[in-house]
Amino acid sequence: MIRIDQIKLQIFPSYDQLIKAAAKKIAVSPSEIREFGIIRRSLDARKKPDLYHVYSVWVKTANESKILSRYKKDSNISSYEPVRFELPSPGTDEIKGKVVITGMGPAGLFCAYELAIAGYKPLLIERGKSVDKRKEDVQKFWETGILDTESNVQFGEGGAGTFSDGKLSTSIKDKSGRIPEVMKVFAENGAPDEILYEQMPHLGTDILPGIVSNIREKIISLGGEVRFETLLSDIVCEEGKISGVILESDGKREEIETGVLILATGHSARDTYKMLYDRGLKMEQKPFAAGFRVQHPQRLINSDRYGSDEAADKLGASPYKVTANFEDRGVFSFCMCPGGYVVNS
Ligand SMILES: Cc1cc2nc3c(=O)[nH]c(=O)nc-3n(C[C@H](O)[C@H](O)[C@H](O)COP(=O)(O)OP(=O)(O)OC[C@H]3O[C@@H](n4cnc5c(N)ncnc54)[C@H](O)[C@@H]3O)c2cc1C
Repeated sequence: MIRIDQIKLQIFPSYDQLIKAAAKKIAVSPSEIREFGIIRRSLDARKKPDLYHVYSVWVKTANESKILSRYKKDSNISSYEPVRFELPSPGTDEIKGKVVITGMGPAGLFCAYELAIAGYKPLLIERGKSVDKRKEDVQKFWETGILDTESNVQFGEGGAGTFSDGKLSTSIKDKSGRIPEVMKVFAENGAPDEILYEQMPHLGTDILPGIVSNIREKIISLGGEVRFETLLSDIVCEEGKISGVILESDGKREEIETGVLILATGHSARDTYKMLYDRGLKMEQKPFAAGFRVQHPQRLINSDRYGSDEAADKLGASPYKVTANFEDRGVFSFCMCPGGYVVNS
């Protein structure tokens, strides 16, 4: 495959225009392009109000090595092989009982999904409710201020970001292919394909709950088991190793044998961390970032980024990102919600 970068076109070109432009870059006719895909799309607003989309694409065509050698000195044309994520190969130790995963936020959901695909049939437990029932509790909280401590904006299927805009951007450098894998799983489960190549992808609040329940159904269809309103209340250890978990649901306690417990409990489950601490688990404080909120009129951001507020009709509310490095620390805008509003959590 050949990768072609820096294809600059008027915003939202048609597929044909894009293929034509890609073909032109490597001096072949569009009909010679057998397969084609978009790797990245970003916005060039340096000459605003004139706006351009800049694409990186891959193509399959005949005589690829000949073409590549012709463009040896052009850094925008290169050989391309997508990085595919692979689960690390399992050890040889036999796993006692089922793999138990606690928490159905992004960490637990993806862990269960990948393990289910690899044939593990995990048991996934979540103290909160399924995303549909959870939506009702969150709505009630916003309307009345009455909090259900087990089913709310932080707890329940989908985890803490379920009622967010679902921003998928990260500044983490990824060589293992995990980021494209996450995007692929989202796209296969109901997210728009654009997330696979947008520079600042996001899912949108309305579709996130549907994606989460599709992922859950896939886990179940692969033999995984999902239990809602089930709390991991204790762990059982023998000779310094996990041998079981205590689950509580509907006032009943149950012990399940397991040799592997994955804790994907997020940052709000203080009771769970206390229980683990009381059981003598080694804990380390994690570095954290502290932040504050800045609000600007969306008009201002659109005009600054796009050159006009009207451009947002086509492009959507504009995001932005700022970073600065000082001697002792970096400062960055973490969570930017274009056109969003603030919710109590
Ligand atoms: C309002 C809001 C908006 C956000 N927006 C974004 C965004 O746009 N993009 C982004 O990348 N990040 C966003 N975040 C941050 C993101 O949601 C978190 O980084 C992410 O959810 C962490 O995932 P996690 O799976 O580690 O934990 P969590 O999502 O916190 O999930 C942990 C789950 O474990 C369950 N649990 C805890 N203890 C137990 C127990 N003992 N037994 C059973 N179940 C248990 C909880 O109920 C919960 O569902 C947002 C967060 C909030 C609150």
